[in-house]
Amino acid sequence: MKRVVIIGGGITGLSAAFSLQNKIDEEQLPASVTLVEASERLGGKIETIHRDGFVIERGPDSYLGRKKSMTKLIEQLGMEDNLVHNHTGQAYILHGRKLHPMPEGAVMGIPTKLTPFISSGLFSMRGKARAGLDLILPKSDAQGDQSVGAFFKRRLGNEVVENLIEPLLSGIYAGNIDRISLQSTFPQFKNIESEYRSLILGMKQTRPPKKKNHSSKGVFMTLKTGLSSLVEELERNLGKRMEIKKGTAVTHLQKGENDYLLQLEDGSSIQADQVIVAAPGRKAGSFFKKEIRERIGNVPATSVATIAMAFPASAIPHDLNGTGFVVSKKSPYTITACTWTHQKWPHTTPTGSVLLRCYVGREHEQAIVEESDAFILSKVLDDLNQIMGVQGKPDFYYVTRWRKAMPQYIVGHQENIAHVQSLLEKDYPGVQLIGASFDGIGLPDCVVAGEKAAERAVKMIRTC
Ligand SMILES: Cc1cc2nc3c(=O)[nH]c(=O)nc-3n(C[C@H](O)[C@H](O)[C@H](O)COP(=O)(O)OP(=O)(O)OC[C@H]3O[C@@H](n4cnc5c(N)ncnc54)[C@H](O)[C@@H]3O)c2cc1C
Repeated sequence: MKRVVIIGGGITGLSAAFSLQNKIDEEQLPASVTLVEASERLGGKIETIHRDGFVIERGPDSYLGRKKSMTKLIEQLGMEDNLVHNHTGQAYILHGRKLHPMPEGAVMGIPTKLTPFISSGLFSMRGKARAGLDLILPKSDAQGDQSVGAFFKRRLGNEVVENLIEPLLSGIYAGNIDRISLQSTFPQFKNIESEYRSLILGMKQTRPPKKKNHSSKGVFMTLKTGLSSLVEELERNLGKRMEIKKGTAVTHLQKGENDYLLQLEDGSSIQADQVIVAAPGRKAGSFFKKEIRERIGNVPATSVATIAMAFPASAIPHDLNGTGFVVSKKSPYTITACTWTHQKWPHTTPTGSVLLRCYVGREHEQAIVEESDAFILSKVLDDLNQIMGVQGKPDFYYVTRWRKAMPQYIVGHQENIAHVQSLLEKDYPGVQLIGASFDGIGLPDCVVAGEKAAERAVKMIRTC
């Protein structure tokens, strides 16, 4: 009987566990799986709160629907009736002290429609003219990786990057686009440049045509009952089929002659033939020898906090016609983004109420995350008052700190991780290292990473 241990019960570890257990059952393989999770609850960064009819996500609130793995997992668990798309609406960029509508047709900040771009107040005439140079600039012959900032600045100029692309990307990575790797985050844009030379022309060519009977369904999806309900369903399903140990961390991974011994915080130990490490980077690194640990340590991570606030509708003097805004670095505010959750996800909020969720913290502004809840709230309310005229205090609020939780794939990330993987294969056969610090931060990417790890684990079980 082969024993596989999965370390970490976030979405990556859970996906690995579900996929692996399914394969073991289908093929009746002589193997057992144990999932070890440090905290008392599964889900990792996924955490939903239900209160007074509100559905509040403390971490991720949705996923990109075109990446099918999450939807497939939800369907496998019979939860598809619970799926919902976001409501679409105007998104804004806060630049200086003003909310500017995102120019229509801008895809990740790249203009594909001329008129909305020309008439946008986000850029000066000079900035618009500079972006237009993309139409005639030759393609770059740069080989290897480069930063997202350098790539887009060369094609579209500094202004479009600073006022539009940077705030949009910051919303996803909370990082510095002059350090983030193009190859690891948006390789498709390099491919578009290679094929079409101009990003603007390439994006126009490659955008899927608008469907007839175009509905207002958004591109993001989530579960009406909150993302934690997926975790609960996975736990229910897996709990009957494998051992799940919660509330105790793996502290050491010791290599034996043909297997591994895992020491747990509660003093127990587990023998394993294979180990799938799905804990976040810096924790995962601690299990391995110096060279691997240091290379994993080279993946920096940013701390952020989310602040979810429930207000009566009367606290918002203006009609919020849209889904929220991201904040450019040149704005004098603490918040980096704000989702008008009741508009984007109406199922989350009872009628007559408003649910706003703001972010604070980004690469050079992480100190705010360590402030008290009351301090963070007062900063956020001050900003919201100036930006949107929000009056008074929320009926209730939740501040959630995510320390070193947003991995930064800096230039050279893929090479660094490929090296880590080759060292693992050589020095720790049967151990896999997966998760958001390495293979993609989106929930669907984590699900795919878990599934691929399960496939590799099954291959090893079959050949033993
Ligand atoms: C605020 C925020 C908002 C986000 N929004 C979105 C979004 O809207 N859409 C999207 O697609 N993605 C989003 N992301 C990214 C996404 O949530 C994460 O990339 C993903 O949840 C990571 O899952 P994971 O399983 O790899 O790691 P985690 O969720 O971090 O899980 C790792 C688990 O390992 C456990 N662990 C750690 N050490 C040990 C140990 N020694 N022994 C045992 N267990 C251990 C931890 O307790 C944890 O439960 C967001 C992230 C954050 C922080």
